Amino acid sequence: MRVLVVAEHDSHALRAASLSCFTFAQAVAEATGGSVTWLALGNKIDPVVAEAAHFAPVIAVDSPLLSQPLADSFALVIASIAREHQFELVSGAASTFSKDLLPRAAALLGGAMASDVVRHELIDKALQFDCPQYAGAVTATLRLIGSPQVVTVRGSAYPPAKADESTNHAVERVEIEAAKLASRCEYIGLKSKKSARPDVTEARIVVSGGRALKNSEDFERLVGKLADTLGGAVGSSRALVDAGIAPNELQVGQTGKIVAPELYIAIGISGAVQHLAGMKNSRTIVAINSDPDAPIFDVADFGLVGDAYQIVPQLIEKLQKHAAHVAG
Ligand SMILES: Cc1cc2nc3c(=O)[nH]c(=O)nc-3n(C[C@H](O)[C@H](O)[C@H](O)COP(=O)(O)OP(=O)(O)OC[C@H]3O[C@@H](n4cnc5c(N)ncnc54)[C@H](O)[C@@H]3O)c2cc1C
Repeated sequence: MRVLVVAEHDSHALRAASLSCFTFAQAVAEATGGSVTWLALGNKIDPVVAEAAHFAPVIAVDSPLLSQPLADSFALVIASIAREHQFELVSGAASTFSKDLLPRAAALLGGAMASDVVRHELIDKALQFDCPQYAGAVTATLRLIGSPQVVTVRGSAYPPAKADESTNHAVERVEIEAAKLASRCEYIGLKSKKSARPDVTEARIVVSGGRALKNSEDFERLVGKLADTLGGAVGSSRALVDAGIAPNELQVGQTGKIVAPELYIAIGISGAVQHLAGMKNSRTIVAINSDPDAPIFDVADFGLVGDAYQIVPQLIEKLQKHAAHVAG
């Protein structure tokens, strides 16, 4: 099978979720005797193209016309490249970025699509995909009919691929014409908070806060500070996002981000099924909650029963002392 991986990046480097998607694509290509190619889209993306070429051949569309990721333009480019190069499987990370692009590309290609793939299997020369549904309550096993097939792949389900920096695969540069990118969207601007912290979907450690945190100051003083002490990312339950205490992009769960870090610390989060859907595959889960019967303890490896306002400052102090001891 000829597999295309749509690269997700920040113009400088590939995102970890894309590297996990590449692992999936490589496994499919190996099982079917096929090949993997990256598709890198954007403007001034030379570092990304160079990095991707350490893994596999790259098709690069580097144009000022793609300086903003407008989904309808990007989808047109993906569909036209998939069609012209006769890719049989088009894949991307199951992220906000790909979820915006790939269903549009699938519709343009007339191809069947599976979202949130967590496992695949080749049976009788046909691929089957496992896709969790209803916040992970059930898993659907799908076989896609026709070609091309289009899938998004959960980053937490496949390990990120490692680059072979001694290899540089071929790069094919493709020009695009403005007339072919007829977009119904006009980019006006972007409002985004710059954060020095790692992205919640890519961090090895995630510290998340829930309704126990009464306001933004407490959230930052407890959850933010513990995350910074551990060099981790900050996450949140939807309760805090709905209350305006935490920004939307921090939400973990069914309608937020799916994470699977090495360590997930849930502070004052009850463990509703919609929150668990976003973090239950974390390697080690630590829960801090004043209610010993909170459902979060059912999935936690370590539990601390008590008041987060007392426990978290003590934890931060002990970790800081330990770090100073190690450094000194
Ligand atoms: C369609 C749909 C989609 C949803 N998607 C998401 C999603 O993506 N992500 C998500 O998180 N939720 C989602 N929800 C909401 C979800 O059902 C819960 O309402 C939400 O997760 C609850 O957030 P919480 O655990 O912070 O709050 P609560 O359920 O109110 O829990 C607060 C917890 O804090 C503990 N606590 C209180 N004070 C303290 C203290 N001082 N110290 C320690 N512990 C304390 C309490 O014992 C309690 O367990 C969704 C709901 C729906 C219907």
